[in-house]
Amino acid sequence: MSDDARTPSPSQTQWDRIRGSLRSEFGDAAFNSWLKPLTLTAIDNDRITMTVPTRFMRDWVRSHYADRIHALWRGVYPDLRSLDIQITPHGRERVIGPHNHDSEKPKSPPKEPLAQYGTPLGDVGAPLDPRFTFDNFVVGKPNELAYAAARRAASSVEVPFNPLFIYGGVGLGKTHLMHAIAADIRAHRPERKVIYLSAEKFMYQFVRALRFKDVMAFKHQFRSVDVLMIDDVQFISGKDSTQEEFFHTFNALVDQNRQVIISGDRSPSDLDGMEERLRSRLGWGLVADIHATDYELRLGILQSKIELSNSVDVPQRVLEFLAHRISSNVRELEGALNRVVAYSTLVGRSITVEMAHEILSDLLRANDRRVTIEDIQKRVAAHYNIRLADMHSARRARSVARPRQVAMFLAKQLTSRSLPEIGRKFGGRDHTTVMHAVRKVEQLCSEDASLAEDVELLRRTIEG
Ligand code: ADP
Ligand code: MG
Repeated sequence: MSDDARTPSPSQTQWDRIRGSLRSEFGDAAFNSWLKPLTLTAIDNDRITMTVPTRFMRDWVRSHYADRIHALWRGVYPDLRSLDIQITPHGRERVIGPHNHDSEKPKSPPKEPLAQYGTPLGDVGAPLDPRFTFDNFVVGKPNELAYAAARRAASSVEVPFNPLFIYGGVGLGKTHLMHAIAADIRAHRPERKVIYLSAEKFMYQFVRALRFKDVMAFKHQFRSVDVLMIDDVQFISGKDSTQEEFFHTFNALVDQNRQVIISGDRSPSDLDGMEERLRSRLGWGLVADIHATDYELRLGILQSKIELSNSVDVPQRVLEFLAHRISSNVRELEGALNRVVAYSTLVGRSITVEMAHEILSDLLRANDRRVTIEDIQKRVAAHYNIRLADMHSARRARSVARPRQVAMFLAKQLTSRSLPEIGRKFGGRDHTTVMHAVRKVEQLCSEDASLAEDVELLRRTIEG
């Protein structure tokens, strides 16, 4: 161990320089929350030790920033082999946020560390994942609208649409796009104040402000930004007082012509449990949906991941196999690729389709089991003895319209497709038609036991 850290020393100077790079790469909010508290404690041949005050911070820094910090240090010490991030010895663990269950709880009201380390705006936002940039986002048919809108919102000097509402199923890149917008603005127009956070965190901050009678400061923080970004807005549906506060914040910002960007897992009109006036207001700007991935996009994403990691060689046939078979969402697709690569690195086996098949058998089975809208249409058409084409046709006769509605209902129940996507698969119908069908079938089932039985039977056979 050297005592490099005690007095200003060459290493301390290097660390200050690295801190400067980290600050500009990750932005002030992330820097103040997570990186500023890092202390350089030892440099020891090929190993550097740094400490942070709490376990939660240690885990977060390890998983989000350690690779980058390590790389920057290696620029200074090319022989560096490891970077160790530890909890400050003897330091009392502070209570952090709602997730930290294992730390010692002080008796006085806990102070969140973000408030201790952050600037006023650093307090409320969430850190950005440095991998989630526009450059790393692969664009294809299913996400091109959302991507173009995100780029426009990030680069436009005027507010191009307010709000921008991006929605789509889980794991399709909403958070990635949100972070990319925030990172892009921070890089190119750092004078703009951007807050990015999840709706859950917004709610948590609000509840905390109420508890500590700090609502004025809360309002001020959110209403003094240029760009407010709220991820996963569906989390505040049903939470009345938070919803109310969100609505006021939203209106205040839109009235001052500040940009508001929101993501959700469904369209504004489908946000059940959300007040009507808020729902309609959310749909005023541009609503951009991210559709389920198609084969080309999946293959493109896999190829891009391989290029970015530039460490391993995965045969094209294996990428095609994964793109073909893991169709659920991008997160699972990435997970599958990582698993195959990790396995091959660990056991030193080369990557082949057979090997991928073996390693991913559980995931492949789950993907195969997933019900498609086409399956549902076939089964329902067969059950009612109508032509499959009538699922797409404009015919309104009850004998085909009712089965079609049942199929739409089942598509909503059994797949993760959004209403507009379901509408498209039924001859390009509007999402309101699908919603109407869903409600109609629900209502009929509650009145008509034999229809309810029919639907239940269909559901069971389709699910297999
Ligand atoms: P969501 O917020 O919609 O649930 P995420 O944004 O968290 O999904 O995306 C899940 C994972 O898939 C992330 O690692 C993200 O980087 C990746 N991903 C999603 N879409 C794309 C894309 N078009 N190009 C590259 N990576 C993507
Ligand atoms: Mg997300």
